[in-house]
Amino acid sequence: MHDLASDINGVSDADRDAVATSVAGTLDGHSPQSDDRFRAVPEDFSEESAFMRGLADEAASMLEDKPASSILRWAAGVVPRFSVTSSFGADSAVLLHLVSEVAPEVPVLFLETGFHFDETLTFRRDLAHDLGLTVLDVQPDLSVAQQARRHGAELYRRDPDACCAMRKTIPLRRALANFDGWATGVRRAQTPERAATPVVEARPHAGRYLVKVAPLARWTEADVEDYLDAHDLPRHPLVDQGYPSIGCWPCTKQVAPGADPRAGRWSEFDGKTECGIHLADDGATVRRTTTPG
Ligand code: SF4
Repeated sequence: MHDLASDINGVSDADRDAVATSVAGTLDGHSPQSDDRFRAVPEDFSEESAFMRGLADEAASMLEDKPASSILRWAAGVVPRFSVTSSFGADSAVLLHLVSEVAPEVPVLFLETGFHFDETLTFRRDLAHDLGLTVLDVQPDLSVAQQARRHGAELYRRDPDACCAMRKTIPLRRALANFDGWATGVRRAQTPERAATPVVEARPHAGRYLVKVAPLARWTEADVEDYLDAHDLPRHPLVDQGYPSIGCWPCTKQVAPGADPRAGRWSEFDGKTECGIHLADDGATVRRTTTPG
């Protein structure tokens, strides 16, 4: 039987059944087979992109209340070319440990902005080694010195959106051109902008729809702490020095105990809470920030 939704997005009962079968198999502990229905499609192929969105919505509703390990195993199985992004930040060890457990072959993309704390680079090296992960450094076009020559020193103080675009969003867009989907450690509880994060979505990204997965979307801070403790995983070394959220050093400040964990990110700029890599490509949700006066 076809309902209105299936007529709109082209997801037939057979497609729905296939998603249900792959989810059920995952919950039984199997790794589902790669599924071409989840291969990225060009954004302007309206029928195919609507189909992809419909499939992702279907998967999201089936996986919403499932364990993070199941969500990740399902995505790593069905999405033909799958990846994970990690900032190797405060609680990144959670998602990376899950990857090492259920999908160790999946590459981890690390945005090497050139502005990381030394502690982050050490943490990245040690954690990748301990968990047996393959980490790919995603590089910007310009070195830090080249960017300073072309755009002036300390662009991050004058126009952090431009700096984030050059050092994060554009390089990630280019890297993801080689993949059909990716997982992130985004959690709904982190910021108001992340509150509606689906566990699975079809995300327009550089002219294509890719499958984006957030296995930890429902997790609270307490869930994260419990997981780190239960698996004896390391926190980023700067957490103990008052940095509950860690990005590039020019845009990360210590915060007072009990304050909003992300209050130290771009703290000199009104309204900037995201670098842009988790925002939609449509521009409408990408805000310009207010430069400090
Ligand atoms: S977080 Fe700061 S230093 Fe890093 S890319 Fe964005 S603006 Fe530049």
